[in-house]
Amino acid sequence: MAIRTILRFPDPKLRESSLPVTDYGGALAALVADMTETMLDSDGAGLAAIQVGEPLRMFISDGHIAGGPEDSPALVFANPELIEISEEAQTGDEGCLSFPGIFVPVKRGMRTKIRAQDVNGTSFEMEASELLARAFQHEVDHLKGRLLIDMVGPVKREIIKRKMRKEAALAAAEDDE
Ligand code: ZN
Repeated sequence: MAIRTILRFPDPKLRESSLPVTDYGGALAALVADMTETMLDSDGAGLAAIQVGEPLRMFISDGHIAGGPEDSPALVFANPELIEISEEAQTGDEGCLSFPGIFVPVKRGMRTKIRAQDVNGTSFEMEASELLARAFQHEVDHLKGRLLIDMVGPVKREIIKRKMRKEAALAAAEDDE
């Protein structure tokens, strides 16, 4: 297992559309293990494969947030589809590991039903509401290259862009030292 680098906006790779998962072998399990370690290291609630540079339609979600006990393993959602999103909405602050330090209010469906495959390729469905429903909608957006910054108005978008560019410049300067 290894902690991977999480791509940050405006890395163009984050805009790619991910491709279906077709191989449920050791390579997928290894990617899931790396992503789990990376997510835990960053205190994230979810992580899409594209965020570590792998354009695969797959994300993981913190097992505790997904309703399991505190030390539950991360849940794997390969080829996820939101087969239902409630008309009833929720608005709440949303963050993303590709936009560290940024939290913006985003409107999402209050409830959703997701269909996906687990790490072995077994299909399952899961219903979610509130925070978990928000997380599923956020992660599925990643697989289409849709990002947190697309969910806000033009003024806020400029502020986020400026902040992220500044941080990228700072990080580059630190690397030069
Ligand atoms: Zn995200």
